[in-house]
Amino acid sequence: MFTSRAGIRESNERIVLNKIAQKGPLSRAELAETIGLNKATISDIVKKLMTQKLINEVGIGESTNQGGRKPIMLELNAKAGFSVSVDIGYNYIDVMVQRLDGTAYKRELFPFKTIKRDTIIQELSEKLDVFLSSLPKAPFGVVGILIAIHGIVLDNQIQFTPAYDLAFLDFKNTLGEQFACPVYVENEANLLAVSDHTKEKNYTNLVSISIHSGVGSGVILDNQLYTGINGYAGEIGHMTIVTENGRSCPCGANGCLECYASEKNTLDTYKELSGHENALVVDLCRAFLEKDATAVRVVQNMIHYLAIGIQNVTALYNPEVVFINSEISRLIPDFTNQIEAKLTSFTSKNIKIKASHLGEEAILYGAGYLVIKRFLDS
Ligand SMILES: [Zn+2]
Repeated sequence: MFTSRAGIRESNERIVLNKIAQKGPLSRAELAETIGLNKATISDIVKKLMTQKLINEVGIGESTNQGGRKPIMLELNAKAGFSVSVDIGYNYIDVMVQRLDGTAYKRELFPFKTIKRDTIIQELSEKLDVFLSSLPKAPFGVVGILIAIHGIVLDNQIQFTPAYDLAFLDFKNTLGEQFACPVYVENEANLLAVSDHTKEKNYTNLVSISIHSGVGSGVILDNQLYTGINGYAGEIGHMTIVTENGRSCPCGANGCLECYASEKNTLDTYKELSGHENALVVDLCRAFLEKDATAVRVVQNMIHYLAIGIQNVTALYNPEVVFINSEISRLIPDFTNQIEAKLTSFTSKNIKIKASHLGEEAILYGAGYLVIKRFLDS
């Protein structure tokens, strides 16, 4: 097991560090008041965290209503370390480094023809080695690496990957030994949910649906990522939507949601019906906005099936909001409203359907947030 380079932090140190990270800049008096520890204990912890270079004193705050000395404010030292996020897509590896405050420091996209099981770990290890060698010195260096996988992951182990073959490859230990830091593996839709939840903190229960080649989702219940006993929670792409003569799905079933509502399926249908063999999602959306009959038909079809899926999701999880992460939902302004209009059950009353604003970097940001959170909690 890896621990932070300062050793395992005591419980009160973790609480103080997290409070400063989330709510900083804060004064020692504000910390004592909000956490409920006495000022002497807070001062001792602050001194220790400053020695470790995890927090900094920054500027002078406002004095209280009673007057008195203006307090020195404390904030997280964003330069104390870096998180590393890796998104392994079907034909690319996308890597991003973030500071401890979550801001992006460096990103690079490596296109691949295909991701191959036999060589992927070696190739990723070589690319990371070069990519990370240019990082400036930081007291904690790389605090963790998270690998996002388009497939089912349980306890950092890849269980099933429909579009590439990475099941049970050991990224965690191989890369962990090489880079001497914790390495995590997580499902990409779960990271989207983390990303949406981090950006929109007011929602305590949400589902983030990822629509690309397939359809997946991440579920946040009571502010926690919910993955289920086998990591399948939120695999809504494989909920049965069509029961008679349903299309066959790589998961082994027929009539799955992603066979009808994925971006790939929608685009393939448009290409076939319109004769535009090389059409991209952007072309489909442009044609839809220009009211081209074929484009309208295939997008309406996608909306129809997505609405059925989302209606089922609302009955299962009762979220406050459902975020849609896809190129189509970003390019068609009315997309989410059209889905919302089709939700008629009492289980979906008052539920908001929103397009995620994070775009294609959302997986990387979600990965970075999880790495940083685990570091601050260690
Ligand atoms: Zn399926």
